Amino acid sequence: MTATDSRTAGRSDRKTFTEPELWALVGNTPMLSVRLSDRQTVRLKCEWLNPGGSVKDRPALFILRDGLARGELPGKRLLDASSGNTAIAYAMLGAAAGIGVTVCVPANASRERRALLRAYGAEAIFTDPLEGADGAIRTARDLAGAHPGRYWYADQYNHPANPQAHYLTTADEIWRQTDGRITHLVAGVGTTGTLMGAGRRLKEWNPRVALIAVQPDGPFHGLEGLKHLATALVPGIYDPALPDRTEFVTTEEAEERVRVLARDAGLLIGWSTGAALVAAARLVRGLSDRPTVRPSDTVVVVVAPDAGTRYLSEAERLGGRGGEEEVP
Ligand code: PMP
Repeated sequence: MTATDSRTAGRSDRKTFTEPELWALVGNTPMLSVRLSDRQTVRLKCEWLNPGGSVKDRPALFILRDGLARGELPGKRLLDASSGNTAIAYAMLGAAAGIGVTVCVPANASRERRALLRAYGAEAIFTDPLEGADGAIRTARDLAGAHPGRYWYADQYNHPANPQAHYLTTADEIWRQTDGRITHLVAGVGTTGTLMGAGRRLKEWNPRVALIAVQPDGPFHGLEGLKHLATALVPGIYDPALPDRTEFVTTEEAEERVRVLARDAGLLIGWSTGAALVAAARLVRGLSDRPTVRPSDTVVVVVAPDAGTRYLSEAERLGGRGGEEEVP
């Protein structure tokens, strides 16, 4: 079969496939203002309000559509590696459409992540926690190589549909929700799909939009979903020339921000969102030191990939003992 034939075959298969209603709930998330100081607020893009509870519903949906268009799905099982949220997104969207899903996830993914994968009926392979997401990637590659007839290896770290999802949806929403006034986009990087896709599109609309990548300060960290790129397998979709700046954040700084936001703003965000807000606070402080920049001229958008409810089992990090304190 030629490349053209296989594309055509995929298209005709797709005609018989009707997308589940659940798939239409992905995206169109709200944006909230969050106060960082007396002088400055940032706009939080609330990605945890996607139906699967994270930003990764967007790329998972676009990758599933690609697998269907190629005719690889639903005949084969979708296979991929993930730090957890993409795995949950595939599992949920796949369950709604009768598409088998196999995911390789580090064994130290939060208990909530592992429970969700079980609930959605995905086949989950838990990999060496010391190897992080890279260990999951290597396991998925080996499995795909060993069973090409059983699995379609989606490979979100190299699949153009990952940034494309953000290029076509996230960026468009951010642009509309800020009336085209966004000046800075702050996003943590894991696969880098969010920053690459949304960032590229926003810069096309306004080349002066600055892109700030947020990374953990070292290879061993508690910021699930983020990668320390200098010591990790660098995703093929990452273009190091695109971010204007990278901010490195410690796990402790991010945790502190999570605890403060829950108590002061009623927003229970995940660790990577805490990290992005730490980076945003640094940025805003730097801008306010420059007398030529008026706070009203800067519109800083921070992507909030998931919520703290995905980490409730880590109660001590959230600043309590899980609500189990005894009343004296
Ligand atoms: N934060 C969390 C909680 C995530 O799950 C992810 C995805 N790995 C990211 C941030 C980073 O998003 P991206 O993969 O688009 O870089």
